[in-house]
Amino acid sequence: MIPFNKPFMTGKELDYIQQAVASGKISGDGVFSKRCQAYFEQRFGFAKTLLTTSCTDALEMAAILCDIAAGDEVIVPSYTFVSTANAFVLRGAKICFADSGSDHPNMDPLQVESLISKRTKVIVPVHYAGTACEMGRITELAKHAEVHVVEDAAQAIDSYYLGKPLGTFGALSAFSFHETKNVIAGEGGLLAINDSSLVRRAEIIREKGTNRSAFFRGEVDKYGWVDVGSSFLPSEITSAFLLAQLESLDRIQMQRRLLWDTYYDRLRPLEQKGILRLPLIPSYATNNAHMFYVVCDSLEVRTNLIQYLKEQGIMSVFHYQPLHRSPFYADRHDGRPLPNADRYADTLLRLPMYHDLKSEEVDYICERLATFFTR
Ligand SMILES: *Cc1c(COP(=O)(O)O)cnc(C)c1O
Repeated sequence: MIPFNKPFMTGKELDYIQQAVASGKISGDGVFSKRCQAYFEQRFGFAKTLLTTSCTDALEMAAILCDIAAGDEVIVPSYTFVSTANAFVLRGAKICFADSGSDHPNMDPLQVESLISKRTKVIVPVHYAGTACEMGRITELAKHAEVHVVEDAAQAIDSYYLGKPLGTFGALSAFSFHETKNVIAGEGGLLAINDSSLVRRAEIIREKGTNRSAFFRGEVDKYGWVDVGSSFLPSEITSAFLLAQLESLDRIQMQRRLLWDTYYDRLRPLEQKGILRLPLIPSYATNNAHMFYVVCDSLEVRTNLIQYLKEQGIMSVFHYQPLHRSPFYADRHDGRPLPNADRYADTLLRLPMYHDLKSEEVDYICERLATFFTR
């Protein structure tokens, strides 16, 4: 069976974990955490980064930092992971769901524009499959409305919009190192802070509402409870694992792109015949090869295709159920139909994509797809 995902190990993880353990310091914010954060700041130019225990946690920190209170409105795509919306709902926000574009699962800027009101506090673009949202337009809308942008960049490491790294557009951005992402730590995340005025409070919120970080820098002579907060920092064991991965980022990305391009080339004839659609990478975006998906004509075709591929030893999986129709939020949604989000929920299918996938396996998968559609 070709699995859908297989976590990739660079080989240095255990060595670094051993060093962390031997150092006698395994709680958060030690040498390994600092090295990971320095890596992100230097390579991508984020003003400040803080490792978190997940992307979900980074989003929850962002919601606190944006001072979300009951009744505030937050604009989120419907076609996304639960945490994108839930982090803000926890603070009492009302979610205004934006539809996807007709040619891409990312949120449609025209939808965003129509949803902005006096109560809007934050716009949350999600870079689906690591492909940039139209950040020029979204940044402009946010600036005009004087609201924050928080990027859900969970899938978007090492991806760019017009040459600028994703995660540098929002006042705050959240990344994920869950084992299904390009770079992993089991569970892990990162909050990137581009608005420097939010750095100090971010440190406090991450340390249970205390000014512990300032205390360890010698800026205050005792630390205590100064704000709300929670425990959002990972242990050094997680950070040690992550550093090993980060040091191999270029190698990981190169291999994933190679596999992605192979998929694209092999499946292009099916797209040209109008049988299915392949991912669109707009001219302003780069491809970090986080995911390879195809878009089928209908739910029925997709269901049969999943079954057929399974019989051929290939695991393929669909993705999000639209949040505006979820059991939790359907009654709270304002009732607007979001046809593109519904369509991607029914027709998008993700194919196996992981570092150790062999290009002959990609050939085999593409061959099986062609057989399914032409038999
Ligand atoms: C993976 C993912 C998350 C959640 O990441 P965790 O690190 O598992 O909390 C959030 N949003 C999107 C778009 C994701 O793909």
